[in-house]
Amino acid sequence: MADGDIIYLAWNDYVGLTRCRGVPAGDISKRMEYGLGWAVAGQALTPFEDIAPNPWGPMLEVRQTPVPNTETRVDIWDDAPAYHFFLCDSKVADGSNWDCCTRGFMKQALADFEAETGLQFMASFEHEFLLSAPGMGYVTPFSIESIRTVAPFTAALTKALLQANVGLETVEPEYGVGQIEVSCAPAIGAMAGDRAIITREVIREVGRRMGYRASFTPKPTLKSVGNGAHVHFSFVDKAGNNAAYDANGTGGASQVAQHFIAGVVKHMTAICALVAPSPVSYYRLGPHHWSCGFASFGIQNREAAVRICPSPERDPAKKSKAFNMELRAPDATASPYMVIGALVRAGLEGIRAKLPLPASIDRDPSELTDAERAGLGIRPLPSSLGEALDLMEADPIVKAWLPPLMYNSYVAVKRTEIAMFAEADPDHICKRYHDAY
Ligand code: GLU
Ligand code: MG
Repeated sequence: MADGDIIYLAWNDYVGLTRCRGVPAGDISKRMEYGLGWAVAGQALTPFEDIAPNPWGPMLEVRQTPVPNTETRVDIWDDAPAYHFFLCDSKVADGSNWDCCTRGFMKQALADFEAETGLQFMASFEHEFLLSAPGMGYVTPFSIESIRTVAPFTAALTKALLQANVGLETVEPEYGVGQIEVSCAPAIGAMAGDRAIITREVIREVGRRMGYRASFTPKPTLKSVGNGAHVHFSFVDKAGNNAAYDANGTGGASQVAQHFIAGVVKHMTAICALVAPSPVSYYRLGPHHWSCGFASFGIQNREAAVRICPSPERDPAKKSKAFNMELRAPDATASPYMVIGALVRAGLEGIRAKLPLPASIDRDPSELTDAERAGLGIRPLPSSLGEALDLMEADPIVKAWLPPLMYNSYVAVKRTEIAMFAEADPDHICKRYHDAY
């Protein structure tokens, strides 16, 4: 199908949703330099219909400007036009990124990391989501049965993700009923964030076309298994080697990786407001769910906020290449751009201060006594979005990462989300977020 094709100029906002404007496909070349204008008050949108109090009136605009290498075109449907979009930078008049552009926040963190360390940041996201449709019954989780029951969906998904060129690695059943996980290969720099957004949007599109809803909400219902958006990461040096790895380092982590991990653990409770940024995020975060409940580090430990992942490789060169660390707290109510920005900034603080690697915990930190945790410097993660925002406010280092306009407007959106659900019961909150994400 070619007639009627629309190309979307899309951007991922404070609440991690992808918004867009569209142009007829034939006109795209005229839009590459200055994109399309967009009233910035839209950055104050909650995930719902409401707009948070904001400093922007009816005049202020930015240009949503397509980033050429994010072009995504998936054309696998007989009855619908190609799904065709670019991700955008939100630019101001001089061509630089707007202070409140989430992609700009990520790019600046990546640029500072590279300038100060000489290394490039490389990352990939795991995408857990719940697939549902009217009449879909119970299937045993984690089973061949559960994934073959939706075989036409996974076939179309695989085809679409291969066309989208996101480095698809796995499509598999997860632990929840109807839960699926997709993983893609890591990408260097900004492309890691772009790829995460593209992957998520293509998954949603395939769901839509086939009569399913693919929801990335952190907690579909209070009782269901949570959906995480874990981030795997490592560093690439100028020779193309993995600078996060050192065969002689603790757990295989190089000195720079050890400092990085320490910075992330140090600022972990404060960055929750950026990486797990919705009321439902805190129904997911907590011990015993492999989502993590404490600001802790562990080698291989799935209950740690930051872990070193095991590698099956025996060949030293391959082992080095495969080495990576994982941040487990994030979920898909956070923009991948904000997640990468916060992660890189926190790690960079650890590198600057040469912080020592925290003690590696080899069990669920909730099994330690309060005194043991206190002795190891392990703090619980916040238990609500309100608490997370208070902890970010109390961490001047984290606060300073965001331009003041971004900080204040971001917090206003998040406080509005809290206020919207202050009187609501958890089932209602879960339902609203399920439908929005
Ligand atoms: N679903 C878990 C979470 O919410 C993660 C399970 C896993 O280790 O893949 O983070
Ligand atoms: Mg998983």
